[in-house]
Amino acid sequence: MWTNRYWQAEFWTLVFIILVVGLIGSLFDRAAACIAVIIFAYLVWNLIQLARLYKWLVKSRSLYPPSAPGIWGEIFNHLYVLQRKNRKELKKLKGIISEFRASTSALREGALIISNQGEIRWFNKASEKLLGLKASTDIGQRLFNLLRHPSFIEYEQARDYEKPLTIHSPSDENLVLNIHITPYNNDQRLVMIRDVTEKHHLERVRQDFVANVSHELRTPLTVIKGYLEMLDPDMYPELTKIEKPLQMMRQQALNMGHLVDDLLLLSRLDAKDLQSGKPQQVDINIMLDSICAEARVLSGEKNQAILFHSKSNMTLFGSEKQLRSAFSNLVFNAVRYTQKDGRINIFWKETNEHLVMTVSDNGQGIEQEHIPRLTERFYRVDSGRNRSQGGTGLGLAIVKHVLEMHGGYLEVESVVGKGSDFSCYFPKED
Ligand code: ADP
Repeated sequence: MWTNRYWQAEFWTLVFIILVVGLIGSLFDRAAACIAVIIFAYLVWNLIQLARLYKWLVKSRSLYPPSAPGIWGEIFNHLYVLQRKNRKELKKLKGIISEFRASTSALREGALIISNQGEIRWFNKASEKLLGLKASTDIGQRLFNLLRHPSFIEYEQARDYEKPLTIHSPSDENLVLNIHITPYNNDQRLVMIRDVTEKHHLERVRQDFVANVSHELRTPLTVIKGYLEMLDPDMYPELTKIEKPLQMMRQQALNMGHLVDDLLLLSRLDAKDLQSGKPQQVDINIMLDSICAEARVLSGEKNQAILFHSKSNMTLFGSEKQLRSAFSNLVFNAVRYTQKDGRINIFWKETNEHLVMTVSDNGQGIEQEHIPRLTERFYRVDSGRNRSQGGTGLGLAIVKHVLEMHGGYLEVESVVGKGSDFSCYFPKED
């Protein structure tokens, strides 16, 4: 500090004045009094400078400091430089904030920042339209009080934000919204809201189209099947010549019937239509016993060993119809894709967290690359061969949907030439 020339000048000036005043005072025998007066005057002068500094910093709006000689001038100057830097930074920050505001206002998606307790801290313009929020009244409110949608409250409380939630807008029933929450900074969450009305509408049109087409195909198919049944070579000997084509027509009509049934079931599952089976406690042991009996009939001359091993008495809460459809698809697939004299084992067991149904066969197996795609609609490992086995190509897609509806998931393990295990995992209820 003492190396600074202003401080040195201030110090030496003070020393010089005290000495001179002291000397003059000593001429009149008043040295101490004169020095005390000069020190007092110096103190007053410094207090005046402090008061000017205070006035400038606190009361004045001017950027420019008052002028002062010596060290005070230097202090004012330094503060002025700092003030100028601060104002520049502030201006820059204000610019960034207004740019951020402009870009978030231009967003089509709604964006909200909420606290861990759900209090709204900030939202953009699109949120006002999509959720009907008002900046003047809703900042600081809890989002869940404003968005009293049961599925939203459930989604928020589950704290599992892997998948977005689809709900209708609270301000406009015609709007369908996708809500995605992303936690950040430990105590904050970013809520993104997308208007998916158009996509939702197209999805509905697609679902309705598939459902209607399948429904419309049912009546002509029933008529065709009826007439084919009537064309019996035993009753009309002249038909013996075309018995083979007739048999093929019956088989194809049957396959088409299965396809239509599967398409209808899938479109109901797609629409999350629980009409396809009211939820109830389902006795899986009884169900798997009867599916096994049907599988033995399907196996017929293949003479496969089809065994059911029950290792749990637990029931499953869900749709009996849907579960039967999923489990029979897995068991009948095992029959279809396992050779003559093969072995098929079906298990019903429980682990700490899950209830598990497994179908294990020693059939042809599936190459690893196909496994992730098996549950896609009409995906077949070997399309020509598998179609001839009588499957619709929708079986595993139905299984996946049914399991999802029941909070479960499917796991497939397979080795080519050795066989496959298809396991359905369901959460265990407390
Ligand atoms: P599909 O009606 O063709 O059987 P799925 O959706 O039920 O349709 O099955 C999809 C494909 O998965 C089948 O075409 C078949 O290639 C394969 N697959 C299913 N189950 C088995 C199994 N147990 N063993 C070998 N391959 C299987």
